[in-house]
Amino acid sequence: MNKTEIINKHPEAFNLICYEDQHKNFSWETVKKELGVGGNKVNIAYEAIDKHATTWRKNKVALYWEGSDGTHLKYTFQELKILSDKCANMLQSLGVGKGDRVFLFLPRLPELFINMIAIAKLGAISGPMFSAFGPDAVRDRLQNSEAKVLITTPELKERVDAVLWELPKLERIVLVSVKEDYELEEGNVCYKTLMKDAPERFEMEWMDMEDPLYLLYTSGTTGKPKGITHVHNDMISYYITTKWSLDLRDDDIYWCTADPGWVTGTVYGMWGPWLNGVSMYIYDGRFDVNKWYEAIQSYKITVWYTAPTALRMLMKSGDYLVAQYDLESLRYICSVGEPLNPEVIKWGMNVYNLPIHDTWWQTETGSIMIANYPCIPIKPGSMGKPFPGIKAAIIDSEGNELPDGHHGILALKPGWPSMLRKVWGDEGRFNEYFNITGWYTTGDTAYKDEEGYFWFVGRADDVINTSGHRVGPFEVESALLEHRAVAEAGVIGKPDPERGEIIKAFIALKEGFKPSSELGEEIKKFIKHHLAAHAYPREIEFCENLPKTRSGKIMRRLLKAKDLGLPTGDISTLED
Ligand code: ATP
Ligand code: MG
Repeated sequence: MNKTEIINKHPEAFNLICYEDQHKNFSWETVKKELGVGGNKVNIAYEAIDKHATTWRKNKVALYWEGSDGTHLKYTFQELKILSDKCANMLQSLGVGKGDRVFLFLPRLPELFINMIAIAKLGAISGPMFSAFGPDAVRDRLQNSEAKVLITTPELKERVDAVLWELPKLERIVLVSVKEDYELEEGNVCYKTLMKDAPERFEMEWMDMEDPLYLLYTSGTTGKPKGITHVHNDMISYYITTKWSLDLRDDDIYWCTADPGWVTGTVYGMWGPWLNGVSMYIYDGRFDVNKWYEAIQSYKITVWYTAPTALRMLMKSGDYLVAQYDLESLRYICSVGEPLNPEVIKWGMNVYNLPIHDTWWQTETGSIMIANYPCIPIKPGSMGKPFPGIKAAIIDSEGNELPDGHHGILALKPGWPSMLRKVWGDEGRFNEYFNITGWYTTGDTAYKDEEGYFWFVGRADDVINTSGHRVGPFEVESALLEHRAVAEAGVIGKPDPERGEIIKAFIALKEGFKPSSELGEEIKKFIKHHLAAHAYPREIEFCENLPKTRSGKIMRRLLKAKDLGLPTGDISTLED
């Protein structure tokens, strides 16, 4: 779309159309003013919820919730204000105060969101965890954070009962349940009962911008998850990145498919949209192709933020399914978490008649850093351009910026509002991010083209060195996906006496295809022809599924460890 077409289609997006203009006039101070946080004391819960309850948005639906059993609920901003006030009173009566860590081990119930808001109101620190975690993952996080309170369900608690004795700092367990009466053990309390008696008004704790807000562990794709700590000041980044990168507006119905156990679900599945006063839809159920399309159809979702793994699964299930649903309401689709293969964008254009906008960021960066905006043409396979106020660069190990086209370390100039403030209990790990003077280093390898677009190459540790060529797994995986039989691919470097490393591909096939050595040879030839003779996988292994983190990322290090017979390392975030 050219500028005029964009303005005609979205007159309200006038200020968004020119990327260069956005940069020229950009300052974080202006964003702060726009958000209305001029004074010193703040609370993100006020800006995201309570504030709207004092305006015309009071009776606007903040949360449309759908359970896996078909229950539909909705909550207005006013209702969320009252419920979170009550919840804050309830938690306060249990001794929760400023700075305490309160961890959540819950399905995506409305109570998860209500508690997260309440914890912020108390000035405490929330720690959302995936409800699919096993006992070790939960224990590690509660131990590391020295959490005082755990909020969970009776069913999930059973799963972690065996490790509770290893958590001496844990004082209380709050049980959220649909059932009225179940037996309470000592130290456990019932959410429903306490909420019934909790007062309706709560005077929230006014915080310094630098006071901590939540503690989230990274996905564990490359190793042991790190406890990344973010502060109330983050809201400045959340507000403006949601508005500009996800293009959210007041009449949108927005669906972020991520769980709050992953940073995407906390920042863009809760705080970001609510800071913008936008209605959000949550589905508390597992991935299911039909269910997902049904949700878009019946809730008339307009903006959809999801991940490459989900898009690849939708693609795998076939185009004919898409045609059975009315997805006309969709006007903007974004992706995050892994590189977005060009093939997926091509497919999206075909079946949704919409481009898919990639966004790049990390738990550590707290918000979107590089994105494909509504206003810039998409180059399939590129992450897009840096957000206004963000200086991204490709550097060498001395911190020198590399010329366009050169592969190097993707780095950012420190100082944006939502940058991590610490790694909980690990100062050394925190300092590692800033090892190269003047830069925050991301651990990712990338390059920049002459038009300022950034291209992801791979995790620094995943880049393959074969016969003197440096090959990123992403480009090989993307090329593999272009083959008609390939649904998903994970690529690793395998030590080889002659070539240093050879490329090995693990491949999950689309429905209707069966593994065979002929197919393997055909795929190899295809890559040789389409990508490069040096970048084709000399070894192919077919598998049902690739190992993934809870946030849906392919765990290449696990493929490698298994292949080489090495120890698997931390696999607490591994999907079943
Ligand atoms: P860990 O740090 O524990 O190994 P992780 O890095 O996967 O796990 P996250 O913070 O959830 O944890 O993910 C951030 C990483 O995800 C980025 O550093 C990058 O490697 C990858 N990523 C996110 N978005 C994109 C994207 N749009 N394109 C390519 N890679 C992406
Ligand atoms: Mg990481």
